[in-house]
Amino acid sequence: MNTDINYQTVVRELAGIETTSDRDRLTKLSLDYYHFSPILTDKLQNKRGDLAVFPTTEAEVLQIARLCVKYKLPLTVRGAGTGNYGQCIPLEGGIILDISKMNQIKWLKPGIACVEPGVKMAAFDKKAREIGWELRMAPSTYRTATIGGFVGGGSVGMGSVNYGQISDRGNLRRVRIVTMEEQPQVIELQGDEVKNVLHAYGTTGIITELEISLAPAYPWQEVIAVFDDFMTAAKFGQALSDSGGIVKKLVSIHADPIPRYFTALQNYLPQGKHCALLMVSEYDFAPFQDLVKEYQGEITYSKSASEALKGTSLLEFTWNHTTLHARNVDTNLTYLQTFYFTLERLEKLYQQAGDEIMIHLEFLRAGDKAVPAGLQLIRYTTEARLNEIIRDREVEGAFIANPHVFTIEDGGNKQIDPQKVAFKQKIDPYGLLNPGKMRGYQKPVESSL
Ligand code: FAD
Repeated sequence: MNTDINYQTVVRELAGIETTSDRDRLTKLSLDYYHFSPILTDKLQNKRGDLAVFPTTEAEVLQIARLCVKYKLPLTVRGAGTGNYGQCIPLEGGIILDISKMNQIKWLKPGIACVEPGVKMAAFDKKAREIGWELRMAPSTYRTATIGGFVGGGSVGMGSVNYGQISDRGNLRRVRIVTMEEQPQVIELQGDEVKNVLHAYGTTGIITELEISLAPAYPWQEVIAVFDDFMTAAKFGQALSDSGGIVKKLVSIHADPIPRYFTALQNYLPQGKHCALLMVSEYDFAPFQDLVKEYQGEITYSKSASEALKGTSLLEFTWNHTTLHARNVDTNLTYLQTFYFTLERLEKLYQQAGDEIMIHLEFLRAGDKAVPAGLQLIRYTTEARLNEIIRDREVEGAFIANPHVFTIEDGGNKQIDPQKVAFKQKIDPYGLLNPGKMRGYQKPVESSL
């Protein structure tokens, strides 16, 4: 990497493209939601980029890539910066490429759309619903997150109970990326080739255009149901997720005392009860009520789709927003992303949880079935204890996607993906894209730069 660069030279060469080197703005543009992890807070809080750039076209992205290669400058792409594990924190400084001004919907038709990466997800849905379609899935940061950022760093969210993860075949159809080769160029990846950029933290190319599959839009009724017993709530969640006759989009279950952290919903959350935060099709509300009754639940909150659109959506209490609300009350809380896969395993781990662990479930489709996963809350004491909790859960057969590490592999299945590494070697031979995030990638020796 070039440590002697004078960024004024870079700014001059980028004439016509907006840039900033203002310290306060750079601080904001360098960080994400890494602070949900006390471990990452210590490691990442002082990392900063040196210059932020705001391209508005693919041609400008190409121009920036050429300059980074010429001066051997690290480049980290940023969408809305809502990632959780320091995904867009520049470990080695350099250029922050803020993609938010590339926010055009190129075309939209039933079932499929083509967008620039900076399009915000909720803004996209507003347009798509005009023709009766919507995103297949979206994170709880839906209002602010970008589509490019979700592909680069996200994985699941509302809609995943039907369509699985964004990485599941068919959800992302095609991307255009700018490479960081000796001569940067624009290339297209189609079909299974898109795996090279999915959840790659921007280490394998700068996405400049995406083609995504859509889902038919329904009027989503937002509902809270409460239960006396946690496992009954969990079984209800499984039954709703499996129910072919009730169209749904969100099945989120929270063990007591998590509901206490949802300050704005206290009127609907009786003390000591476990709750389900749900989105179901208004057309299927009657059979849904029967299902709640079958599991001895009680509906305490119900908003029609049009009412729900006016206020804060229940979505913003689910997925990792649950952690956000909990941390607003107690900053000592952190979380673990956990796949239980079966209710039997969940029950065993629930019984072992004690006061230290609070179970929060999200149902999502994995292969041919819906499975319980979620973001359990942990009362943090030490790193050693957190690792012990992870090990104990893995011994029981649960899968933990560790949110307390910043490499792609360690936050996933701990395996190096040789295909992704080979792709990176080809399109980023100097290792300039978001350096330090792909563990399997060996940087070229400094002297060759
Ligand atoms: P950023 O954080 O800006 O970027 C994410 C990663 O993608 C970075 O590594 C970045 O370098 C890369 N990237 C961004 N744009 C591009 C591009 N154009 N080309 C190449 N790489 C790019 N995630 C979920 O999956 N589901 C959830 O439900 C969810 N809930 C959350 C709740 C809270 C409270 C918080 C703080 C986070 C949550 N997240 C969740 C994580 C995050 O919000 C999502 O992954 C979101 O989609 C990221 O979008 P972004 O625009 O903020 O991306």
